[in-house]
Amino acid sequence: MDSSRIADTAQQQPDRIRTLEHQAIAEATRPLAQALVGAQAAAVTRWVRETAGRAIPARLQDFVDWVRQLLRDAFQDKGKQAQAAAERAAFTAAQQGAQHASRLAAAMRGTPTPPINPDAGPEAQEAAQSIPVAVEQEQGHALALLTAAALTATGLAGLNSVFKRARRGVGRISTAMAVAITSAAANGARIIARALGDDTRLLWVAEVGACPACQAYAGLTVKPGHLFPGGLSLDPQRTVFTTPIPGPPRHPHCRCAAIPWSKSWPLEGTPLPALLRQRAHNPRRA
Ligand SMILES: [Zn+2]
Repeated sequence: MDSSRIADTAQQQPDRIRTLEHQAIAEATRPLAQALVGAQAAAVTRWVRETAGRAIPARLQDFVDWVRQLLRDAFQDKGKQAQAAAERAAFTAAQQGAQHASRLAAAMRGTPTPPINPDAGPEAQEAAQSIPVAVEQEQGHALALLTAAALTATGLAGLNSVFKRARRGVGRISTAMAVAITSAAANGARIIARALGDDTRLLWVAEVGACPACQAYAGLTVKPGHLFPGGLSLDPQRTVFTTPIPGPPRHPHCRCAAIPWSKSWPLEGTPLPALLRQRAHNPRRA
């Protein structure tokens, strides 16, 4: 087996992660997004009705209290629901990462990979568990903007900006889901690497078109469970991420992947780590 064929297959994994991420995020964010659209429509309708012939509603505090309740209802249970969705998606990602790693390892070693039960791993778990608190924070920020004084000063624009702020809760769910999914996919590969023996390492596969930070990780290897160094980047002028990490993602919405690799496996051509590095550093030539 030639290393360039393995590299081609390895580089398809980020697309699979991306597809899973899009589907899972759309599904997990829909309940809060739709609830906020409904709440905003109700709030604006009542605002328009109560401001016929005047600048602000006559009983403004009643209006504010009512909209506060609308917002609370819209957010009700959404963080917990999204956490559960993130946990499901992370498990799927771990399975996918493990399958992909198994297939590649079998091709490189020339022998089937024993079946192994994947799990999402602590990074994915942590990302999923962070969702309820993050969503609650955004609810708090939105409610803080919703006061009689603010609406007196800014009117309908102020009312709409409360909902705009609330929609950041949707963004927080997306970010945490993306981290959970990419971490879990890498953990699936890590479990396979660990099962394949002491000289098997975890190899970083940068996504095609990766940012300068991720390009710097392409082709690096660590023992499974050990940390890749922090602070690497091909362009230190851009954002540099300083913490050492056990594997992808380097940042939210990074779709780099990890695969098992050992220098003792009988691959022909340029050694796989060097090849992945070349491809990331000179995307046009490779
Ligand atoms: Zn990346």
